[in-house]
Amino acid sequence: MVITGDTRIYGLIGDPVEHSLSPLMHNAAFKELNLNCVYIPFHVRSTELSRAVKGLQSLGISGFNVTIPHKIPIVKYLDEVEKEASNIGAINTVAIQKGKLLGYNTDGTGAYRALRAAGSDPRDKNVTILGAGGAARAVAFHLAPLSRNLVILNRTRKKAVSLALELHKAGWDVTGRGLTPQTLSEEVPETDILINATSLGMYPEVDKTPVGRDLIHPKMTVFDIVYDPPQTTLLQAANEAGAKSIGGLQMLVYQGVLAFEIWTGKTPSMKTMTRAIEEHARRSL
Ligand code: NAP
Repeated sequence: MVITGDTRIYGLIGDPVEHSLSPLMHNAAFKELNLNCVYIPFHVRSTELSRAVKGLQSLGISGFNVTIPHKIPIVKYLDEVEKEASNIGAINTVAIQKGKLLGYNTDGTGAYRALRAAGSDPRDKNVTILGAGGAARAVAFHLAPLSRNLVILNRTRKKAVSLALELHKAGWDVTGRGLTPQTLSEEVPETDILINATSLGMYPEVDKTPVGRDLIHPKMTVFDIVYDPPQTTLLQAANEAGAKSIGGLQMLVYQGVLAFEIWTGKTPSMKTMTRAIEEHARRSL
């Protein structure tokens, strides 16, 4: 692309950022829509967050994604935070408009869109979320108002119980329990949609899975938000058990689509963004 005086700059702040797939997705979509925009990863250490945010603002950057470890600490530097992001307490997308920093979290909506696109609408379904970390919180706040029954199971039981309590205060009945062989055997058979939002199964521990094939039934949907590797041990178990399986790359692309829409007001092609990531994965093999 040709960078000109009026090229709009978007980016990502995090530590690390080297392996992020977001520059590939966004730059491919800018190119296809012929937008004079570029997306750049910025490696920002925690001690530099405040200065980096001020710098991005003064340089006239148009918007940026936020990743680990800044998703929570960034909140205090923002002028406005959208309601769902405020409930979640974490930000993954910032738009800079007229010098003001506006914070969003597109992970929950991204997960919802991935489910719907696969024909597994969570409305009026029994949903079980494994995990109570940042991603699980985003998914839980988005799905709690839609599902019939939401159960959260987490290794650290206290975090599952306290997330369920937060959701209860926001008006939804949610159960929080520990993640143990017993709770899994009690909850999973009743589940229509099982969502793994733990980091179990993520590279390099690719052989791990929170749930074995024996508990998965053919009528359920198994959604693993882990995207590295794209085909996790949990998804393989779901396929073997005859269940529908959805991988984390879908959610990754949808949360990127939503950020792109917030920044530009335009809808990028899901296909283009997905292809950009898949081509990269093929080149890296
Ligand atoms: P996080 O805030 O660090 O939370 C990690 C979660 O995993 C916690 O609930 C933790 O339980 C649980 N966990 C970790 N190791 C475990 C183990 N050995 N056994 C059982 N539970 C374990 O991380 P996060 O940001 O939520 O990310 C979680 C995963 O989602 C990562 O793989 C990330 O790449 C993926 N993700 C995907 C997308 C997407 O677009 N597809 C978006 C965001 C995140 P404790 O509370 O007990 O520690």
